[in-house]
Amino acid sequence: MALDPWGEAKVEDYEKLCKEFGIQFVKPLLPEFRDPPAFIRRGVVFGHRDLDVVLNAAKRGEPFAVMSGIKPTGDFHLGSLLTMKEIVYFQKLGGFGVYCIADVEAYEDNNIPFEESRLIAVDNIADALALGFDPRRGYIYRQSREPRVKDLAYLFGKGVTLATITAIYGERHLGLYMSALIQVADILLPQLSDFGGPKPTVIPVGVDQDPHIRFARDIAHRFRERFGFVPPAATYHKIMRGLDGSPKMSKRSPMSYFTLNEDLDSVKWKLMNAYTGGRATAREQRELGGVPEQCCIYELCLFHFIEDDDRLAEMYRRCRAGEVLCGECKAEVVEIVVNFLKNHQERREAFIDEALRIVEEGEHVPSYL
Ligand code: SF4
Repeated sequence: MALDPWGEAKVEDYEKLCKEFGIQFVKPLLPEFRDPPAFIRRGVVFGHRDLDVVLNAAKRGEPFAVMSGIKPTGDFHLGSLLTMKEIVYFQKLGGFGVYCIADVEAYEDNNIPFEESRLIAVDNIADALALGFDPRRGYIYRQSREPRVKDLAYLFGKGVTLATITAIYGERHLGLYMSALIQVADILLPQLSDFGGPKPTVIPVGVDQDPHIRFARDIAHRFRERFGFVPPAATYHKIMRGLDGSPKMSKRSPMSYFTLNEDLDSVKWKLMNAYTGGRATAREQRELGGVPEQCCIYELCLFHFIEDDDRLAEMYRRCRAGEVLCGECKAEVVEIVVNFLKNHQERREAFIDEALRIVEEGEHVPSYL
């Protein structure tokens, strides 16, 4: 099994994956979480590295940080939503939040020019703020405008041979290797003295980003003497299937996903046409019940849109018992999702000016890019 941060992730067996890559399961740590949110209780965030170190720091009231980012290639989607929910949760536990707009990676991996990613960054930051990111206890920046990140990346380059980086990422162009070094710098940035020095830091990511985490932990070890880095911890969330039943939501298949700022009629259309675990006929469904395990609509609720466990269990039961048909079930879910999106879209409008200010604050940093 290969994990490729720049490729199409397809994971069939999370247990096998954990064993293969030495990832720990979150489940045994559940009693250590204060008010665990649904995505933790239900195993959507299924794996971790050193999360216990972060939870212990939170319990003892010691400094810790939570750091993650987004590649500014478009609007927030459900993966970015999940990461942001995690960041907000750890910020509420007392962590310092760091959010990176990975515009260097967007340039290297997706050819997005910096003028364009700057505009996307404003939207992404407004989304982050609307979802509860607290900038008073956090820091948001663009990679290309953060000199400390670039300096660290240059420095870390000295500790890495071509053989090491190829072993982690395979053979790629040098720009991607450079952006990997920059990602490592992002991950370790919260531990610099400007941010209070070394501290446990958790990085919430999709499991396909694990190569960056392994690379960062390796570099943290190599530069430990100089900076005192604590090896960065990580949480890994599962990859949600596409609404069309494909293994992953992807921009290449517009029917497989929706964004948080999408036109509501378009979202309704996608949900009403989503792949379900329903039977071929209404009669069969009433007799045999549906298969929620195979249903994208059920998965959407499990991952994101039904927080109440009893309500989700009732949805599962009614489906299994054949008490509800897919059309009716989808209509109920459409209402929940559209309400969420409507509220979110209104809220984010109120944060556009602040997002613009955050982006402009980074502009004074001299840059040759
Ligand atoms: S009834 Fe609902 S949960 Fe069951 S398969 Fe249909 S859409 Fe999915």
